[in-house]
Amino acid sequence: MNDSPSQKNCPCGSGAEYERCCQLFHKGLLPKNALLLMRSRYSAYALDIPDYIIESTHPSNPRHSEEHSQWKQQVSQFSQTSSFRGLEILDFKENQTIASVTFTAYLSQENRDTTFTERSYFEKIKKRWYYQGGHTTPGRVQELVIPHPLRVLPLAYYGDPFLRKKAAPVAQVDDSTRKLIAEMVETMDAYDGIGLSAPQVHQPLRLFVIHTPVELDTGQLARGDIKIFINPQILNVTSSYITKPEMSLSIPGIPLMMTRPKVITVAYTSIDGTTRQQQFTGWEAALILHQYDHLEGVLFTDRLPHEQSESITPLLNQLEQRMRKAHDT
Ligand SMILES: [Zn+2]
Ligand SMILES: [Zn+2]
Repeated sequence: MNDSPSQKNCPCGSGAEYERCCQLFHKGLLPKNALLLMRSRYSAYALDIPDYIIESTHPSNPRHSEEHSQWKQQVSQFSQTSSFRGLEILDFKENQTIASVTFTAYLSQENRDTTFTERSYFEKIKKRWYYQGGHTTPGRVQELVIPHPLRVLPLAYYGDPFLRKKAAPVAQVDDSTRKLIAEMVETMDAYDGIGLSAPQVHQPLRLFVIHTPVELDTGQLARGDIKIFINPQILNVTSSYITKPEMSLSIPGIPLMMTRPKVITVAYTSIDGTTRQQQFTGWEAALILHQYDHLEGVLFTDRLPHEQSESITPLLNQLEQRMRKAHDT
């Protein structure tokens, strides 16, 4: 931490004195927009204020389920082993409740200069902006600046009544359906997801999008083509099963092993309005069944055997409480 408040200039690079800039936020003033929050978080890292980093992180962020003392320690360690040399804002987009900031941070660690570029996402809950998460790219990647308007949608998290509604059929595939689909794809990609259903973005419609999972030779999964399922129906499932890990964007940070039918047959309407019938296997079948469950108001955690579901109940309750608390204050 080479930059200290005594140097006067705020580490966020605004040119203003720390006392008239980020210190106001570190002392409790709420940043009016996500860009100010982003800057005040950067200066909190520079000045080793881990509490600020933690309290300004979105309640759904998986790190909240860790011991906060451990998280604090890691933030502090990063602060103490890095010099924060500057910040360049490449892009900032904000709507009523969602924002993104793309920035390059200039650091040095062990006397070596380094930079990283991150596209960060923010969500406003009540009157307060929170840092939700980000995509980091080492080095400088100009292409990260996304030219079109921000279309990432707020997610529904565990405890949200939208996740428990049975979704209604899509009456017709029109411009508003296509707009929603484009926004869902953007949202899925923003959060590094491989599948997203309409109820997860507060739209009670029978519709989901996936990235076709591609299994690499290494056994890892790559994100393949995007597929869109409108008004899907599961026509048939085999009686043989496979067990694979699953995650849900609505329940971040809780990966679980799930057993699902190995082969399924699905009828659905595609984005051009035509109906199709197709067989899916393995990862793709599991992913489709996971998304289909969302349309029925079912979460993957509901499908766990009793003992296992008991063991994750505390984590689910914590997530629900954090989200509720953020909405209540
Ligand atoms: Zn500042
Ligand atoms: Zn899910």
